[in-house]
Amino acid sequence: MTYQKLKGTADILPGESEKWQYIESSARDILKQYQFKEIRTPLFEQFDLFARGVGETSDIVSKEMYDFYDKGDRRVALRPEGTAGVVRSYVENKLFAPEYHRPMKLYYIGPMFRYERPQSGRQRQFHQLGVEVFGSKNASVDVETMLLALDLFKHFQLTDLKLVINSLGSNESRQLYRKELIEFLEPHFEELSKDSKDRLYKNPLRVLDSKDKKDKEIVKGAPSILDYLDEDSKEHFESVKRMLTAMTIPFEIDTNMVRGLDYYNDTIFEIITTNPKFGANATICAGGRYDSLVEEVGGPSTPAFGFGFGLERLILMLEHMGFDYPVSSLLDAYVVTIGEAVNEEAAKLTHELRQNGLSVEREFMSRKPAKQFKTADKLNARLVFTIGETELKERKVRVKDLTSGLENEVDLEELYTRFSEVYPTLLKSLEKEGE
Ligand code: ATP
Ligand code: MG
Repeated sequence: MTYQKLKGTADILPGESEKWQYIESSARDILKQYQFKEIRTPLFEQFDLFARGVGETSDIVSKEMYDFYDKGDRRVALRPEGTAGVVRSYVENKLFAPEYHRPMKLYYIGPMFRYERPQSGRQRQFHQLGVEVFGSKNASVDVETMLLALDLFKHFQLTDLKLVINSLGSNESRQLYRKELIEFLEPHFEELSKDSKDRLYKNPLRVLDSKDKKDKEIVKGAPSILDYLDEDSKEHFESVKRMLTAMTIPFEIDTNMVRGLDYYNDTIFEIITTNPKFGANATICAGGRYDSLVEEVGGPSTPAFGFGFGLERLILMLEHMGFDYPVSSLLDAYVVTIGEAVNEEAAKLTHELRQNGLSVEREFMSRKPAKQFKTADKLNARLVFTIGETELKERKVRVKDLTSGLENEVDLEELYTRFSEVYPTLLKSLEKEGE
């Protein structure tokens, strides 16, 4: 019997996992700079939370959920996205209470699950990084959060990026726009793609960002949602634009850009790469304001703003661009063993060095010394400690600095008992003159 990973899942092996660690830790640093705090919510939740929170008509809920009945006959689902769970947690833990700082700025990094047809950049288990800001309607929250997203991508030296924004207005003005849009689209009903026909009465705004060529032609003449904004939404959007302009952040407005999820209002944004290599997966980050979701999920009326992006797609892009991950080759010492008799002393030596804070690897396979030195070199070890039967008898170890090429000897007992004096002297003796 052999086993294979499930379709659409991936193993992240050593060699690859270092890249993930680098990306996650740099992202965490930037998030810290912006004062975002991490939240970790469960990987599965009640099915209804997503149906309600993400929207029944979204592809995520209607087509892509991993949902099932557990042994207690509860309908549960693996999370397809991060926002619903974070909002549930915000409400359940009363993070809106007065003792908490407002706005509350949260982020998450972790796996998400969607039943999709797997292809490059599209998996059934994938990872997202997302942020949510709760409790402020200030347009500078929108701007700060978009700047954070841009900063994250800038850190990885992604260029050819475009910030695209739009406003969906308030729920009331959107209802009005919705009606007008349906009226505009109805005469073209027969020409619309099947998906758009299905969406026309359920979620006509989605027709605007249809990928179908014919649909795209038709919606070119559609009324602009920006003409339907009420005064508050207009001023909010103007404020966002003024701040971006004042900070000389280039942006574009796309009045046909809507998001796949129903809960957005006012500012929405996408970061798009204009690099033709990434054609179909051009959107690398998306988000916006969602002021009614917290209430929808049972909390007090709370404005919110967030975004999310996929880490697999980010890594793919970095791959394409030949991004140089900084290698953290932190190996202080490699212990070379010559002869079976030294095995136990090598174990002790390795342990003592580690207890003194060094990162150490040792030989386990009793290979020829030349091979062991090669490994030490490959692992970028700074020092090689060699212990053979002669050294064992004399209670000594030979030490070579792979950078300077210089060698010395040190007494084992001295090293074990007076490390903090012996070790610096040893390092000094291995330095080349004048260095
Ligand atoms: P797409 O149009 O590619 O299906 P989406 O609109 O479903 O994307 P969102 O729900 O907005 O995507 O999720 C945000 C990000 O999560 C996407 O931009 C993408 O980077 C990533 N993502 C979404 N689905 C997958 C998946 N199946 N595999 C890998 N990454 C994904
Ligand atoms: Mg999708």
